[in-house]
Amino acid sequence: MTRKVRFKNGVEVPALGMGTWNMGDDVSLRSDEIASLQAGLDAGLRVIDTAEMYGNGRSESVVGEAIEKRRDDVFLVSKVLPSNASARGVVRSCTDSLKRLRTDYMDLYLLHWQGSVPLAETFEAFETLRDRGMIRSWGVSNFDTTDMEEVEQTSYGESCVTNQVLYSLSHRGIEFDLLEEDRARQAVTMAYSPLGQGGGMLRDNVLARIARQHSTSQGAATPAQIALAWVLRQPSLIAIPKAGSKKHLLENVVAQEIRLTDDDLLALDRAFPPPGRKVPLEVI
Ligand code: NDP
Repeated sequence: MTRKVRFKNGVEVPALGMGTWNMGDDVSLRSDEIASLQAGLDAGLRVIDTAEMYGNGRSESVVGEAIEKRRDDVFLVSKVLPSNASARGVVRSCTDSLKRLRTDYMDLYLLHWQGSVPLAETFEAFETLRDRGMIRSWGVSNFDTTDMEEVEQTSYGESCVTNQVLYSLSHRGIEFDLLEEDRARQAVTMAYSPLGQGGGMLRDNVLARIARQHSTSQGAATPAQIALAWVLRQPSLIAIPKAGSKKHLLENVVAQEIRLTDDDLLALDRAFPPPGRKVPLEVI
């Protein structure tokens, strides 16, 4: 049921992962959030995405607690802020993130978005972290087509294994160019906010109608499951929806069963048109 995605360093992970933005912000939700992440691991998911920015480290602490006794089950991703992306800053941030994550290595470390530090300096620091065993691979986030060309022009470009960007039915800009270009350079696309952050997109009528026409082993399909199945239809792409409860998490796992028909895809193209020209990369 679970489709796999292979990074260019040979590591394979399930295409469905888990996001964690806002986790840890509300203490009363903490145990549900931990239960959700653990239920995902129990269901065979591996990718957990977090960042030092999320709640000033609180999201990483939630993740740390969730994975403490099962580090080997997890493909752990975190991100350094551009303001910490200097040679020294990267090492300090990674050290602090690892403490909160209660582990001694990350599987993948990303530059959250491009700031003023030269990319070559940040990437050299990533290589140092990799030499020290603190990270196993690195990549970027929120990089548009020209930013990715810049990555390639540094001496470390080849080592960049992923580009994490906004992608959902309501944000399809990358289909025009970036998605294919990243595929060609074997940088895995990680789709963030694939559920449109749980907002208005999920209340779309077409999505509701298509949901009524599908079912899963757990019952009738929901618009969120259709939206997720639509993102997951893309090969070599990882989607990282955030689910704060086991209920949502298990719904997202089961969404992997849904196969959208050509008619569904056409209807979704009409409701959420693909880009007809270059759209500057949208970010959240
Ligand atoms: P998502 O598109 O994943 O939406 C999350 C929202 O959808 C939450 O409100 C959640 O509610 C709800 N939801 C989850 N599952 C279901 C379901 N089955 N049915 C109905 N609603 C559901 O938004 P995010 O912005 O959180 O993006 C996902 C992840 O991507 C982030 O958590 C983060 O890890 C990453 N990200 C990265 C960025 C970057 O710059 N690199 C930027 C933004 C996000 P509930 O919590 O109640 O389950």
